[in-house]
Amino acid sequence: MEEALWVGGWKDVSLVDVLESISFTLWTSFCNLKCPWCANSRLARGQERRLVRVSEVVSEVERAAPFVEYFHVTGGEPTLQYKPLTALYKAVRERTGLMLSLDTNATVPRALEHILGEVRVEHVAVDLKAPLSDPEKYAAASGLSAAVGERVVKMVARGLEVLSGRVEFLELRTTLVPGLLSVEDILRVAEDVARFARGSGRLVYVVQQFIPYEGVPPEYRSVKATPESLVAEAARRAAEVLGGAAEVWYRTLESGSRRVA
Ligand code: SF4
Repeated sequence: MEEALWVGGWKDVSLVDVLESISFTLWTSFCNLKCPWCANSRLARGQERRLVRVSEVVSEVERAAPFVEYFHVTGGEPTLQYKPLTALYKAVRERTGLMLSLDTNATVPRALEHILGEVRVEHVAVDLKAPLSDPEKYAAASGLSAAVGERVVKMVARGLEVLSGRVEFLELRTTLVPGLLSVEDILRVAEDVARFARGSGRLVYVVQQFIPYEGVPPEYRSVKATPESLVAEAARRAAEVLGGAAEVWYRTLESGSRRVA
């Protein structure tokens, strides 16, 4: 029987999902984290979902292929459906030759192993929610109880190990969420980047602005966007920590994506 995935939808041409590139972007449903500030909370909770056959998605990607560089899959957490996702990646590669891209929270290293063992994924973006050296904060930023913090940071560290050196372009991202993370926390995440993410062709760390989009849960909708000046400051100081080990960028609504180092 043909494989199928739970998806929220797709966008034929996206300029914002893969740094400096154009992608066809697919959003998968469901997530294993519960980030209280999630911009796709309905999708993450499975409230937006339909089961779509791999061949249906491939037909859509084929139509868009002349206009894009990457087939990008985000969520939710795409690796929760790693078997149909692998089938989809293989089919897209075979039918379009597009480069493949994945956005993941890296908490399911087994799934990452499986995907990368079956197909070459050129670009992987990992959302690092908080410093890995602070399991309690990682759990809080992910909407989980402090009791599982240690386990989650271990899984993410393992996920980064699986990815390091196996993808051509590894992009690590942290959203500077007001009240949850400080600039000092970003510096500690930069230390994690230096420690865990090695050996990839292109390594990038992006500090992102929190924006109270419509998809954010009600309790975070009234939280103001992170000031752009703070996001830029965090990125500049992260660049000092990384000392040339990675490109450093920041991303805001006001300025789009800007490189600082
Ligand atoms: S922000 Fe990402 S990892 Fe967190 S709940 Fe939303 S989809 Fe899941």
